[in-house]
Amino acid sequence: ERTINRIAAGEVVERPASAVKELVENSVDAGATRIDVVMRDGGKALIQVVDDGRGMDAEELSLAVERHATSKLKDDDLVNIASLGFRGEALASIGAVARLTVTSKARGTNEAWAVRVEGGQKHAVEPAALTTGTRIEVRDLFYSTPARLKFMKTARTEYAQAGDVIKRLAMAHPDVAFTLSDGDRTTFRAPQVTSLTGDVRLERLGAILGKEFRENALEIDAEREELRLTGFAGLPTYSRGNAQHQYLFVNGRPVKDKLLNGAVRGAYQDYLARDRHPILALFLDVPSSFVDVNVHPAKAEVRFKDAGLVRGLIVSALRHALAAAGH
Ligand code: ADP
Ligand code: MG
Repeated sequence: ERTINRIAAGEVVERPASAVKELVENSVDAGATRIDVVMRDGGKALIQVVDDGRGMDAEELSLAVERHATSKLKDDDLVNIASLGFRGEALASIGAVARLTVTSKARGTNEAWAVRVEGGQKHAVEPAALTTGTRIEVRDLFYSTPARLKFMKTARTEYAQAGDVIKRLAMAHPDVAFTLSDGDRTTFRAPQVTSLTGDVRLERLGAILGKEFRENALEIDAEREELRLTGFAGLPTYSRGNAQHQYLFVNGRPVKDKLLNGAVRGAYQDYLARDRHPILALFLDVPSSFVDVNVHPAKAEVRFKDAGLVRGLIVSALRHALAAAGH
């Protein structure tokens, strides 16, 4: 059983950034309004995620670290997945390849509890001290799987990867405050957006993509069949030398898809040289039957039922916005 766990764990937790992604998504799913992440030595020594979400009682905590334990699948409906996590694998997987401690206090209760899992070996749930939410500590990631440990990149690279993951989640969740620290310094900070007058999403995007973007980005809002595309697209005058600042979210999840960069190139081709790329963040909402988020366990990839329809919508929405802005 433990061998199987370790093999499967590699699928979900490839590197520190994938552990961070799973843990932060869990915090979002738990209704947290603030999520603080600390990574020491690029996450190899420590990944700590602290949230103020609804927490877990002793029984839930004990279950949470078991494989295929999830509280998120209602009526066995694998198609209609509203929450970010849904496989019940992340905590078990991390526990299989690291020293994991989960401390939690269920909202509305007065007791906190902790459970430890080391290399797949689960210890008994014990009373602990915590005022709110959940604290996850992952130490010595991959200590029990030396092969995987060998494939880790430098601490700096792993930390940057995790920073990118957190940044994308922060764009999708403007109502949640995020920080990332290396243990000495907070290198990413997205304060909770409380603006009642402005656009909450634009405020958050501006905090991450810059003032210039916030002040000049074109608003996107278009529909085609059952698809809806919203978001903000930077002016051609505010472009970059690479396409790394083009963000796509499908049903609220950050995804990486070449389709986006291609569509963006098509839309901006009359305005930009080939080696220039606009900055943008687009949010595509589709019926869950239109998209397969299950392509990769880390869930960064998607497969659309009709990629041409998505591409067409993105290209026409961007062209329309550019033309309307007089470009
Ligand atoms: P999944 O997210 O797919 O359900 P995980 O292994 O990531 O599986 O988490 C297992 C369960 O543990 C979740 O379904 C949830 O009930 C609980 N859980 C995990 N992290 C948190 C958290 N930060 N706050 C509250 N509950 C959590
Ligand atoms: Mg999860």
